[in-house]
Amino acid sequence: MPLFSPLFSLYLHVPFCVSKCSYCAFYSEPLGETPFLSNPPVSSRPFIMDSFISNPSITKWLLALSREAGYIDEIWEGRPRLRTLYIGGGTPTVLSLSQWERLLGILEGAFDFSVIEEVTVEANPCSLTEGHLRLWRDSFVTRVSVGVQSLQDDELSWLGRRHGSRMALQALEKTLSCGFDVSADLIFGLPFQTLRTWHDSLRGVAGSGVGHISAYQLTLEPGTPLARSSPSLPEGYSFYRFAQWYLPRRGLEQYEIASFSRPGKECRHNAAYWRQDPVLALGPGAWGYLSGFRYRNAPTLEEYAAWAATRPPVAEAERLGAPEGEFSQSHSRPRGVEAAILALRTKWGIDTTSFARRFGEELTEEVLGVLKKIPPRLVEFFEGGVRLTSSGMRVGNAIWVELLELADR
Ligand code: SF4
Repeated sequence: MPLFSPLFSLYLHVPFCVSKCSYCAFYSEPLGETPFLSNPPVSSRPFIMDSFISNPSITKWLLALSREAGYIDEIWEGRPRLRTLYIGGGTPTVLSLSQWERLLGILEGAFDFSVIEEVTVEANPCSLTEGHLRLWRDSFVTRVSVGVQSLQDDELSWLGRRHGSRMALQALEKTLSCGFDVSADLIFGLPFQTLRTWHDSLRGVAGSGVGHISAYQLTLEPGTPLARSSPSLPEGYSFYRFAQWYLPRRGLEQYEIASFSRPGKECRHNAAYWRQDPVLALGPGAWGYLSGFRYRNAPTLEEYAAWAATRPPVAEAERLGAPEGEFSQSHSRPRGVEAAILALRTKWGIDTTSFARRFGEELTEEVLGVLKKIPPRLVEFFEGGVRLTSSGMRVGNAIWVELLELADR
C-alpha cells in the first residue's frame, strides 16, 4: 500500500572518482587516468573527460538509479516532496554534461521539487568545468561544496589529491561568480602541517568569499592506503582550536562541531540529519533515515545494480528505537540518546520541551543529569535548553561516551 508522503531530504551517491585519495574510505570506483590534469582548471571547454562519457560503469549506475527511483515512487503516494537534496560521492563532477542531464531528468521524474529549499552538489576542483556550473545554474542546484582540503601544494600531494592550491582557488572563484552558495571542505591534522600552513589555508578559503567551511580532522580509516602506512598523526586539538578562534573573526561562526558559516548560509541538508528528519538514500552505499530506522543501500555498484533490477537495493537496516508515540517511550531510548548527541553537535543544542515531548520526561531528566555533571565551561544551560560551549565542542567525543551509557539502561 502506498504511503503518505511527508517532506524528505534526499542523499544521492555518485560512486566514481578519477582516482582514490590515500585517506578516503567513502565507496567509489576509480575511473582511471585522463588527459585533463594538464589542462587549466575550471575549463571553459564544454567537458574535458571525454574518456568517461561512454563509461559502462556510469551507464550501469544511471540505469540502476532510475530503477531505484521507480521503487521509491511506488512506495510513496505520488512523487515524494523534497526539502533538500545532496548529490555527493565520490566525485559528482566526473560525470559528463549529458550524464548530468540524464541524472537531473531521473530526479525530476521521481521527486517533487516544488518546495525544495536547497540542492547541493559536491565538486572536485580537478574535474569541475564551466559547463557543469552553467548546467547547474540552469537547473535547480543552489549550492556547491568544493573539496579544497588544503591550500598547500605539498599537503594536497601527500593526501593524494589531483589538484593544487591554484586550481582549488579558481574553482571557488568561478563557482562564487556563478551565484551559488559555496562551501569548502578543509582537513587538519596532517603529519607535517603547522599552525602557519593551517592559517594560510583558512585565510585563503575564508578570503575567497565562501559562505561556509567544513573543517575535518584527518583520521586513519581502516582499509585505506593511509591507514596501512600508519603515519604518526599530530594531535588535532590546537588546529581545531585555531579554526574556532580564527574563522569567526572572518565572519564565519561555528554552528556545528565541524561547520562554520556566514549568517544564513548553514547547510540545511545536514540539519536534517541533526534533527533526525526523514532522509531518503539513492545510489550504492548511500545511507537513509526513516521513522527510527537507519538503512543502507547495497555497498558496491555491482550488487546495487543487480538488486535494483528486481527489488529496492536496501542491504541493511538498523532500528534506533520505535518512532516517538509508538510503543512505550523506553523503546525510543537509543533514538533519544542519538537525538541528544546530534542536537548537542550544533549551536542550537537541545530544546528540552520538544525533547521531552518526543522522548519522555524520564530520558530528558537523565540526559540533563549527565550534562550537569560535566564542568560548566564545557556545557551551557540556558532558558529552555542546553548546548555545548566552544570548549565543549573540542571534547565532544568524551561527552558522547557519557551519554551513550544511557542508551543501554
Ligand atoms: S575525490 Fe573525494 S570521494 Fe574521491 S577518493 Fe578523494 S576524498 Fe574520496
